[in-house]
Amino acid sequence: MEPVIVVGGGLSGLSAAHSVLEHGGKVVLLDKKPALGGNSVKASSGINGAGTDTQARLNISDSSQSFYDDTTKSAGQLARSNLITALTSNSASAIEWLTKNFGVDLSLVSILGGHSVPRTHRGTGGAPGWAITSTLMKKLAVEEEGSDQRAKILKNSKVVKFLQTGNKVTGVEYEDGQGQTLKIQGPVVIATGGFGADFSSTGLIATHRPDLMQLPTVNGDHATGDGHVLVTSLSSDPGVLIDMDQVQVHPTGFIDPAQPDAKTKFLAAEALRGVGGLLLKKDGTRFVDEMEKRDIVTAKMWEVIQNGQGPVRLVLGLHAATELKTHCDFYVSKGLMKKFNNLQEVAEDIQIPLRDLQTTFTSHKSYASGQEKDPYGKTHFHNSDIHEEEPFLVALITPVVHYTMGGILVDEDAHVLDASGKPIPGLYASGEVIGGVHGKNRLGGSSLLEAVVFGRIAGKRAADYVTN
Ligand SMILES: Cc1cc2nc3c(=O)[nH]c(=O)nc-3n(C[C@H](O)[C@H](O)[C@H](O)COP(=O)(O)OP(=O)(O)OC[C@H]3O[C@@H](n4cnc5c(N)ncnc54)[C@H](O)[C@@H]3O)c2cc1C
Repeated sequence: MEPVIVVGGGLSGLSAAHSVLEHGGKVVLLDKKPALGGNSVKASSGINGAGTDTQARLNISDSSQSFYDDTTKSAGQLARSNLITALTSNSASAIEWLTKNFGVDLSLVSILGGHSVPRTHRGTGGAPGWAITSTLMKKLAVEEEGSDQRAKILKNSKVVKFLQTGNKVTGVEYEDGQGQTLKIQGPVVIATGGFGADFSSTGLIATHRPDLMQLPTVNGDHATGDGHVLVTSLSSDPGVLIDMDQVQVHPTGFIDPAQPDAKTKFLAAEALRGVGGLLLKKDGTRFVDEMEKRDIVTAKMWEVIQNGQGPVRLVLGLHAATELKTHCDFYVSKGLMKKFNNLQEVAEDIQIPLRDLQTTFTSHKSYASGQEKDPYGKTHFHNSDIHEEEPFLVALITPVVHYTMGGILVDEDAHVLDASGKPIPGLYASGEVIGGVHGKNRLGGSSLLEAVVFGRIAGKRAADYVTN
């Protein structure tokens, strides 16, 4: 039996590989880097699921319809109902797959911007991306050692070409760590991730969003859109790229005071705002509903920065910092967040009068209690009971290239489609490399989900293709 070839060892490639094995196939997974994980191991806020056991236990009423509605609203005029249905209707089973089949802890749920209820799952340990992805990695390594030899992992192996017979994809050509060019035969799942680090002068950002070339990124250097280029370079009936100008700029990348101009930055997890972090201008006042969608928060930040009212600070009170203690301890240890013993110390650091900060926090508390209406329309408040004598955590933040919504045109079965809309035989794609799932704005927590949902679908379809 031919193996299914999975290109990319992030969460989507790993999900596809496990899905191939579950459906009786053999799999070879290649990654160009010396270690698997991609951007998936960096994910810091969590993975979405609607109608999960965890939500039921926490008395959160949710449904795939509500998740569909939120996603469609966020996707705007670029919403594609077939892809959104696939994402949202498979979300609870994706969470269940991770928790039951792999034992991943996803027992906590928080609300991120643009969601109508809490549905972003994470565990009690460290970053959710690492917790989920490393578990799937370890399990695949165990499968590789198994007696039936149905799984093989090739690291330092960069796929440079897809092989074709007619319009059918029949394998890949790859360069190994010794510089040799080798071939493997079999249907292919592309899971190479996005192009959020492709800043070369002829690259995908320069081509589709030249205005973002000067921005920093939170992507790993692998994210150069290899899959996008490979699929459009097919010699017969190539694949198609859609929505390539839709690049998500995340509002909160940390500015590291030790290297403020670094091109690659750490992400300040969206969950920091979810637990109650406030965004403040240089004068200590707020300027946006912190729980708004990323595109809106980013646009407001640009206004602030361009009007000379920056830098923008992210400020957490004691309860918010305690709720995300593991994250915050890590950021403080990296020098990305600074701890102050009280509000007075924060005011001294920013060099503004204490009373200005007092006004900001007292007003916010009064909006949270419903005594007054928030001028920015905020309705979800969390940990807003902040006392000025308690410790605060403060970080300088800036917008960063985060996620690329555009990518390969697929259908809801993860088939790669050609320009006439027909599936290219033997070719599937999943994860950030696919386009159109999130329209013009991805909701936080929906990319890990996309990686798992479409990875599982692609793995199943590719396994069926070999065995049928
Ligand atoms: C800092 C950060 C935080 C995030 N937080 C969240 C979050 O909390 N929740 C959420 O839902 N999303 C989050 N995201 C987005 C999410 O992590 C990614 O979109 C998702 O993990 C992408 O998964 P993937 O498997 O498609 O790609 P990746 O995980 O990027 O993996 C792609 C893999 O393909 C390999 N590869 C690339 N080209 C080739 C080639 N030619 N040959 C062989 N291998 C190749 C790469 O080396 C890499 O290992 C975050 C992203 C970042 C950067």
